[in-house]
Amino acid sequence: MEVVRITPRGYCHGVVDAFRIAKRVRESTDGPVYMLGHLVHNTHATDDLQRQGIDLVDPPNRLAGLDMISEGTVIFTAHGVSPQVKRRAAERGLRAVDATCSDVVRTHELVRDLASRGYEVIYVGRRGHPEPEGVLGEAPGHVHLVQDLEDVERLDIPRGRVAVTCQTTLSMWDTEEMIEAVRRRYPEVEVYNEICRATQERQEAAVRAAREVDLVIVVGSPRSSNSNRLVEVVRKLGGKPAHLVDRLEDIDPGWFRGVKRVGVTSGASTPSQLTRRVIEFLEQLEPPGPDD
Ligand code: SF4
Repeated sequence: MEVVRITPRGYCHGVVDAFRIAKRVRESTDGPVYMLGHLVHNTHATDDLQRQGIDLVDPPNRLAGLDMISEGTVIFTAHGVSPQVKRRAAERGLRAVDATCSDVVRTHELVRDLASRGYEVIYVGRRGHPEPEGVLGEAPGHVHLVQDLEDVERLDIPRGRVAVTCQTTLSMWDTEEMIEAVRRRYPEVEVYNEICRATQERQEAAVRAAREVDLVIVVGSPRSSNSNRLVEVVRKLGGKPAHLVDRLEDIDPGWFRGVKRVGVTSGASTPSQLTRRVIEFLEQLEPPGPDD
């Protein structure tokens, strides 16, 4: 089958930096080293880090995770943590190493600054994802998480100093829709779109390529926000079927009935060897014909 390699795809600078930091810490530290949640949201990358001797603590939230660590070094993941988590780590006598992506750090600084100037901040993000958890902790009670249009309708904050910003790995198009909904309720709102460049470029490339292929495969893990958003934008804006594939075994040959050209992209935390294996597999695959 003909495979179109969609570029850019795969590792972003934040993921590369997080790996570099984790590796350096492991090599230079004698005691136990933990990652507080998945360093980046990819199953293979996490397994590999564990094999290198970095233990995974993966509770429902970061504060609870710290209570599971009694000594040693803790690495804060690329998604960032709240100031409360940093304080709790210090109180517990842990050595903390921060692998937060610089783009996420910028959003934290923005929210802190806005809140210090009396703004109420509406934050478009995904419930249960660690990035919103960290950002909301910058100004508890003054950062309001909205995930869908119903959440925007339910907002009950005073008019006046209102700002809207967002998680770095959302769909560009869905976020625009959410920001417009916020603007309808709060016409005075100041807008700070914080979707990172890596996410934007991968989404634009995937939507462009979708027009030239019959189907798109996104290599990435189910936890990965940016990988899931790639699937969504291909389906919604590219108008083509798309499937998320975490490992080769996830591929269902039935998806390719009548398919001549398949596009392949990958999330910002997906190891390139895995994407390469998927591409090689698809190149060898003889898709069933439309009538098979
Ligand atoms: S996807 Fe964006 S925010 Fe997330 S680690 Fe990569 S560059 Fe940073």
